[in-house]
Amino acid sequence: MISQSGVQECVEGCLSFPNRFVKTIRPQKVTIQALNEYGEEIIVDGEDEMAKCFCHELEHLDGMIFLDKAIEELSAL
Ligand SMILES: [Zn+2]
Repeated sequence: MISQSGVQECVEGCLSFPNRFVKTIRPQKVTIQALNEYGEEIIVDGEDEMAKCFCHELEHLDGMIFLDKAIEELSAL
């Protein structure tokens, strides 16, 4: 992640944990660096839901899961 700003409270789940949802605190806006399908470096901005998704997926690459960021467990939606 190159930069982040703002704060948002999120409802978050994960395809690896069906029917489990928690509240998390995430940045409202992030800028990430990645490789596209051609192996070229790209820089992408994400806000709101996309910022949450970028954070979630980047943490998977670092061996973390959304439950590590949970501030409150929610019942199944
Ligand atoms: Zn996930």
